[in-house]
Amino acid sequence: MTKVRFAPSPTGKLHVGNVRTALFNFLFARKAGGIFVLRIDDTDVERSTREYEDGIRTDLTWLGLKWDETFKQSERFDRYAAAAEELKAKGLLYACYETGDELERKRRLQMANGRPPVYDRAALDLTDAEKAELEAEGLKPHWRFKLSGNPVQWEDMVRGPVSIETSSLSDPILIREDGSYLYTLPSVCDDIDAEITHIIRGEDHTTNSGAQIEIFEALGGSAPVFGHQALLVGADGGKLSKRLGSLSMEDLREVEGFEAMAVNSLLGRIGTSDPVEPFMALEDLLEGFSLSKLTRSPARFDAEELARINAKILHETGYDAVRDRLGAMEADAGEAVWAAVRPNLERLRDARDWAVLVNGPVTPVIEDDDREFTAEAAAALPEGELDESSWGNWTSALKEATGRKGKTLFMPLRHALTGQPRGPEMAVLLPLIGREKVIARLNGEAA
Ligand code: GLU
Repeated sequence: MTKVRFAPSPTGKLHVGNVRTALFNFLFARKAGGIFVLRIDDTDVERSTREYEDGIRTDLTWLGLKWDETFKQSERFDRYAAAAEELKAKGLLYACYETGDELERKRRLQMANGRPPVYDRAALDLTDAEKAELEAEGLKPHWRFKLSGNPVQWEDMVRGPVSIETSSLSDPILIREDGSYLYTLPSVCDDIDAEITHIIRGEDHTTNSGAQIEIFEALGGSAPVFGHQALLVGADGGKLSKRLGSLSMEDLREVEGFEAMAVNSLLGRIGTSDPVEPFMALEDLLEGFSLSKLTRSPARFDAEELARINAKILHETGYDAVRDRLGAMEADAGEAVWAAVRPNLERLRDARDWAVLVNGPVTPVIEDDDREFTAEAAAALPEGELDESSWGNWTSALKEATGRKGKTLFMPLRHALTGQPRGPEMAVLLPLIGREKVIARLNGEAA
């Protein structure tokens, strides 16, 4: 059974980069009929907050990325401690006492001598007596995993064959001086216990994967299949990291007012061999999804492209899907109005402005030269209930009667009826505004 996980740390808001990883995991699980796990990586108790954790769940729910199972790493410290003991017993986790400054000095020296700044494993030579002495001085150990020194190889779902030379890496620190865990060991324990079959995450984790595969093996598990997708960059190919704050899901939703499916559509397709298209539902995006379509080069994230997709999605969105949200922003003027204004929307919130065109009050804009014409137009309005054919009949009759045509015929009417030079189709608007308001506006009265 395919089982994947999305494992954010609740130390910040989810942004487009994290969400792309979440989306890939979700789609991968759905495609395989498997399980999508949400794991909260909160081993850093100082920086993890409940608020960020709630935010992650809110964002994923908004996007429709429903998880089948969820758990938090902070509930599993006993398991990590047991795994650490197991590694110590195997001689694979060793105590180190260097301070940050000391390590920095060593690194500089190595670089000055033209050597790579790899940890020299000096701590492995410490005797028990020396360690006891250091601890008596008040030093607390941090713990490093002893890499094999052999190349670690795997067939990556995105990158193809990958080989990591562990001999050129520092033994990774798994436990800090204060006893807290870096994500490396807990993640492996969790992936073993949850029987995760595939790990899909960003390319920035590729080197970690080399070490983690050795930890999987050391703990008697076998490593899942890996897929490391290329990271996101800005539209200009530059780094996105600085802008990620403004590209949080919360901002895209609450401040920008984007549609969830616009975000999914864009993130699901950039950096793949498929074109970016608007999708109305995750199921539609699922159809052509395959990690093998991911390109090796970074995916360009362009907020303007998101805006374009957003508009296209709104233009197709049915009334029932937005009714509640329109209601919440006091812009629900019924299904017919929605159908009329929808083709003009870039963001849903714009519907408020368009709804006002129908419901009023609208302050008509009428040039002095046009006053006579709009008054004549009011008098010539077809009898009875206005419908979608009224506009055509009415303006044809006005054309004949006044000799006006094109812009000089239509613009004064649009300006008078909506107070604006642009907007939804007048043929659709006219019956929605209704006879009474149409006549009032044509006569220059706010209505
Ligand atoms: N919490 C880690 C991160 O957000 C998880 C990485 C992983 O997917 O294993 O980077």
